[in-house]
Amino acid sequence: FPKIEEPADAERVARRIALPISEPFELHGHSIDIGASVGVAVCPDHGVAIEGLMRAADIPMYRAKQQGGGRYCLFSEELAAEHQRKIDTEAALGEALQRGEFLLALQPQLSFATGEVSGAEALLRWNHPREGLRLPGTFIPIAEQTGIIADLGDWVAAEVASVLAEWQAQGIKRRISFNVSPRQLDRSDFLPRMRATFADAGVPLSLVEMEFTETAAMECSEAVLDEITALRNDGLSIAIDDFGTGFSNIARLRTMPLDRVKLDQSLIADIETSEKARVVVQAVIQLVKGVGAEVVAEAVENVAQADILRAMGCDTVQGFVFAGPMYEEEFTSWTRNADRGARSGAA
Ligand code: C2E
Ligand code: MG
Ligand code: MG
Repeated sequence: FPKIEEPADAERVARRIALPISEPFELHGHSIDIGASVGVAVCPDHGVAIEGLMRAADIPMYRAKQQGGGRYCLFSEELAAEHQRKIDTEAALGEALQRGEFLLALQPQLSFATGEVSGAEALLRWNHPREGLRLPGTFIPIAEQTGIIADLGDWVAAEVASVLAEWQAQGIKRRISFNVSPRQLDRSDFLPRMRATFADAGVPLSLVEMEFTETAAMECSEAVLDEITALRNDGLSIAIDDFGTGFSNIARLRTMPLDRVKLDQSLIADIETSEKARVVVQAVIQLVKGVGAEVVAEAVENVAQADILRAMGCDTVQGFVFAGPMYEEEFTSWTRNADRGARSGAA
């Protein structure tokens, strides 16, 4: 649009394209419903040659799509930087695995009843050569999009198996749970491979727990559910993670192979101050226990929250109030002290 004087003009044009296209129309007696996502780049700020401008416009177009489509978005330096970071991350992820840049941190889970450390959740960390420690939120979504999540997930399982084997040699019997991405479940050989990983390491499945997000648990096929059930019959624990944020088919809770449900952080965030938040959490706890599963509260940050959750009947607690994620060595010495405390009743 050569006559455009300023970005606001371009936005007006983009709106005039996106809006009418989103109106359903009739074609040969069928109602057709389509949409358009528009990315806007301005010459000469965002490029001068047509190729450069198109490339620049692509970035906000993907953002517009990501935000649900049927809208427009303007190029910005922040968007471009974010896009570049995504490309860099994508490229670096594959090599990072080869170079051994990943680490597992373990976060203790404590039993409310005994104060003892009942298990740990394995949380992935990326020791990036230039940027330092990167948390999973900055690379798991990208790994999921590129498919590298499968290799990453295999590495996590192998690492969990090796820690458990080491503990077993030392006579430590403690369960580790790890997170499984929905994309991993898409692969038909995923669960058999998991079984082999732990069998090869000589680790009984009773020491292993897999965490699936609510939506993944609800969406997986009958065939996958059958395989999960078989693993569970051999001792594996199954947990639903971030419960309360996805779309739960409550009826399915009755039949799902399920041991524990982890209440999402957002559910428990306001329980000290909000009566409504307490009512909701209490109802969810009743529901979960009603179907025979245990309740884990995660991201518990203070003693007030922990006390309320204990009184409400939560079984297990995980959160900064007791301990954050730690690397294996620190975790082992932390749990040694914690268990001593629990035994002497000081926890
Ligand atoms: P998640 O499985 O729900 O893990 C709990 C997250 O809460 C962790 O963040 C943990 O560090 C954090 N957390 C623990 N205690 C507290 C607390 O008291 N307060 C607050 N505010 N946060 C707390 P992290 O390690 O950044 O992991 C984020 C998410 O990344 C995880 O959420 C999980 O969905 C995903 N993730 C982590 N490791 C893996 C992995 O190996 N594979 C896959 N597919 N996803 C992973
Ligand atoms: Mg988790
Ligand atoms: Mg969670």
